[in-house]
Amino acid sequence: MDKKKNIAILGATGSIGTQALEVIRANKNIFSVEVLTGSSNADLLIKQAIEFNPNTIVISDENKYHYVKDALKEYDIKVFAGKKAIVDVVKMDNIDMVLAAIVGYAGLESTLSAIEAGKQIALANKETLVVAGDIVTALAKEKGVNIYPVDSEHSAIFQCLVGEFHNPIEKIYLTASGGPFRGKDRDFLATINKEQALKHPNWEMGAKITIDSATLMNKGLEVIEAKWLFALRPEQINVIVHPQSIVHSIVQFSDGSMKAQMGLPDMKLPIQYALSYPERINSNFTRFDFLNYPELTFQPADTKTFRNLALAFDALNKGGNAACVLNAANEIAVMAFLNDQIRFLEMTDLIEKCLEKITFIKKPSYLDYVETDKETRRLAHEFLTNRIKFVTKK
Ligand code: NDP
Ligand code: MG
Repeated sequence: MDKKKNIAILGATGSIGTQALEVIRANKNIFSVEVLTGSSNADLLIKQAIEFNPNTIVISDENKYHYVKDALKEYDIKVFAGKKAIVDVVKMDNIDMVLAAIVGYAGLESTLSAIEAGKQIALANKETLVVAGDIVTALAKEKGVNIYPVDSEHSAIFQCLVGEFHNPIEKIYLTASGGPFRGKDRDFLATINKEQALKHPNWEMGAKITIDSATLMNKGLEVIEAKWLFALRPEQINVIVHPQSIVHSIVQFSDGSMKAQMGLPDMKLPIQYALSYPERINSNFTRFDFLNYPELTFQPADTKTFRNLALAFDALNKGGNAACVLNAANEIAVMAFLNDQIRFLEMTDLIEKCLEKITFIKKPSYLDYVETDKETRRLAHEFLTNRIKFVTKK
């Protein structure tokens, strides 16, 4: 690479954001940090700003603006606050690539703004594609913007496709670890608490995606993400449980040949690949050793026990604003579970209720998606405050 690539990291204080900064720290001759954003973790954002000396930072919690500004008064770093500021700063001329690593629907507007401004996107924020995949991918096409997947499964598929872009895909297999409750039944799931759900066997991630992994909603969101990233039909997308998380996903081509991408579970690799594509740059990440994994196993996903995955496939098949409803209801459900308001299985019931009640729109506009998200959240909160009697199906 001749010139340094200037990166904006949205969600720098999160799990993906901090790992991206590790990658950049190890490759300061290749990447430079232009923008960092955080939401509640002002102290970490300040620390990151001092180390990486970006042009601009944004703290989206406006109450923390003076605190951050004060802490950085000796430095030549612009400080902004608020949601709108993130949407604006991603358009800055000197940004080459935006790493979208905000969690949830909150990342949609800034990602769209970056695409609109013609910035290349490294996409961690899968919810963006789940909510409005048609609008996001159409805008990217119009603006000549590439969306490089950061999600490990989608990075795996992308890596398998390099050199094969003209060859049709027959099928993809997204691998799933199965989460901490793989093999458990619904009676067991009815008893578990958030401390148990927050312990993922193979990956260390933010709280929301960790819960999504325990319910298999994460895989459901990834199925929808894959549809948009790789222009697939629902029947081309398969999920296979692979507890060791070594095979990150698989592509099957029209001649029946299958390609898989493998490695130890470490998000730094897909993050680095998205930032450095088409180059592969050196890393000191721990190498995989076959002898430590004499058995790589595969089994079907249990969609009867983990019904969120079935709901996601339903939303994918239905199209329209269904996945937007699924996502908004899931965000509220996960938050309610983390706040001890509902139990593990009730998350699915809440999502299902919202999917039943929210008006279906076959060909939504951007504003329809915004409205759908708002209305679903309102309804989900109403269900929660009325303490609706969820019928937990067994
Ligand atoms: P985290 O919760 O660890 O981090 C989220 C980041 O977004 C933080 O910087 C947080 O700021 C910021 N943020 C949260 N809410 C808002 C908001 N309303 N407005 C602006 N910024 C906000 O999440 P992860 O890093 O785990 O995940 C980020 C995205 O990447 C998710 O979409 C997830 O699905 C995806 N992903 C994550 C993987 C992982 O291994 N973690 C793997 C694959 C995909 P602060 O902390 O300062 O409040
Ligand atoms: Mg993933």
